[in-house]
This record gives sequence, structure tokens and C-alpha cells, in this order.
Amino acid sequence: MTSLARSCFKLRGRVIPYLFRHRLVSNIVRGYATKYPSEVRVVEVGPRDGLQNESQFVPTPVKVELINMLSRSGLRQIESTAFVSPKWIPQMADNQQVMRGITKRPGVTYSALVPNLKGLHSAMEVGVQEVAIFGAASETFSQKNINCSIQESLKRFEEVMKVSKENNIKVRGYVSCVVGCPYEGDITPGAVSEVAKALCDMGCYEVSLGDTIGVGKRRTMVAMLEEVMRLVPVERLAIHCHDTYGQALVNTVTAMEFGISVVDASVGGLGGCPYALNATGNLATEDLVFMLHGMDVNTGVDLNHLVDAGVYINQCLGRKTKSRVGEAHMSRQSSGA
Ligand SMILES: [Zn+2]
Repeated sequence: MTSLARSCFKLRGRVIPYLFRHRLVSNIVRGYATKYPSEVRVVEVGPRDGLQNESQFVPTPVKVELINMLSRSGLRQIESTAFVSPKWIPQMADNQQVMRGITKRPGVTYSALVPNLKGLHSAMEVGVQEVAIFGAASETFSQKNINCSIQESLKRFEEVMKVSKENNIKVRGYVSCVVGCPYEGDITPGAVSEVAKALCDMGCYEVSLGDTIGVGKRRTMVAMLEEVMRLVPVERLAIHCHDTYGQALVNTVTAMEFGISVVDASVGGLGGCPYALNATGNLATEDLVFMLHGMDVNTGVDLNHLVDAGVYINQCLGRKTKSRVGEAHMSRQSSGA
């Protein structure tokens, strides 16, 4: 052995741990290993998840115009309304008028939330091609939100699944409170994976994991995703983040690192949750698309059109957009920059 080789051999015990301690090697390894999906399907939930949280009734023509603007931006999937009892959510009382009023663009899916068979029938009357059902990962949230246990809520959806299948209607599932609940606090990852698997087994083509109150952190998201992916293949998962603590983008990227390529977002950051009072907005679609394009991830969405839609609806609601990207666009325009 040459003297140089001997020195290297002696040093290795110090050099290798040093490199790892300073994350040099681990970062290089991770940098090469990290693969984001090259394309993300953005599911726009503003007209439903966003507007259902508004206490003042939004006129039907405004909702219709919003959905039309969103479809013009290139979004291919828009959750447009909910077929729930107007006693529960008065904002969605015009569900049929909205579905009839929108200009349907080819290639765009206009879906709707349905809580039961009655809602599904009502949705079918206006030709809805895709519906969404939901289950909570928190027992208390389920009781307070829909007045029954998680198990009972899943049982109720079996009929919805059966009739949807018979009529060739696609069904998407939501799991709410995947990392935290306003009543129970932290949620165990095992509770989430069970509900997600149950929804898949029932026939949902995709299950969206919802941080309904926006309390997810990278660490809790990782733990939850690891557990869910033991039971549900990544191709059947989507992520749905709220931005209460400003973590929605980080949590979304975390899910993308796991291979998830479907992301829910709400234009203008509309929304919250009527049953979770401290939930602020959803992840703003403009912010999501801006970030994805900056990562060279394709969305098929035109950001300028999207910003216009976010500004439009927030102006109708009498306030500024909650999207940081939307706001920056607007101030650049008004300053002529
Ligand atoms: Zn939501």
C-alpha cells in the first residue's frame, strides 16, 4: 500500500462521518434520488369546498361564471357543487341550476359532492358524471360533521357506490382530518390508512387525503403517507391541504416526493371548513400552479387565466384574494410593472 493510500485508509473513519454529519453525502444522494412526478393533475375544489364556507349566498350566475373561467384556464377537473341538504349547507342550494348553467368544455370533468343516495339521484338528474364521497379519520369529527360513526358513514356510501356503478358514474373518495382533528387533536396514521383502504375497496377510483384544518407538518405528513401507502397504491391517492399554518405547499411537495401526482386546490385560497372553525383557506390554486411550473412540473393550466378567476370571485365576495401569487400579479399590474 502506498503512503497516500495508507493515509486515506486511516482518515476514512473521520471523513465519512463528517460528510454525513454535514449532510453533504446524504443531500447528494437524496438530490439524485428525488423524483417528482413530471405532471400533476390539479383538482379545483374552490366552487364547492371553497364557497360552501361562505356565509353570504353567492348568486348562481357568479358561481357559473367562476366555473367557466376556471375551465378556460385549462383545469381539467372542477368540483363544482354539492348535492347536500340546503338545511346543512344553504350555499349549495342552487346545485342543479349551477350544473345546468355552466358551459361544459370537452375534456373537463365537473364533479359534485354527494352525502347520500338522495344527493346522487339529484346529481344524476342534471347529468353529473363524477361524484365525491367522504369519510373522516376522526371519530368525533365524523359524529359532529355527519352525525354518525366512521363505520356507519362508510356503510351509507355502499348504496351510493352501487347506483353510481350501475350508471357509469365515477366516484372519488375524501378522507378528512388525516393529520389532525379540531376535537381529537393528533390523528394516528393507522386510522387514516383504514378509511382510505375502505374507500378504495368500495370502488373509489381515487382517494384524496385531506388535511381539513391545515395542521399538517412535514413530519406528520410523512408518517401518515408511509402508513397509507402500505395499504393503498400511490396511483390512487391525491393530496388536499389547507393553509392554516402556511404549510400547504410544503406538505404538497412532501406528498409529491412520495409519488402523489394529483393535488386538490382552491382558487383564490377560498374556503375553510364550516365544522372546523379554525380552518382558514385551502391551498390557493394559483400558488400551487406557480410553484409547480417553477419545478418544471406540467399542469396544463394557464396561470394568468387562473389569477383572473381568483380575483373575480374574491371581488364578488368583497375582499382581496388570499392567493399570494394572485395578489402579486395584481399589484404588478396596478403599478404598471
Ligand atoms: Zn378542504
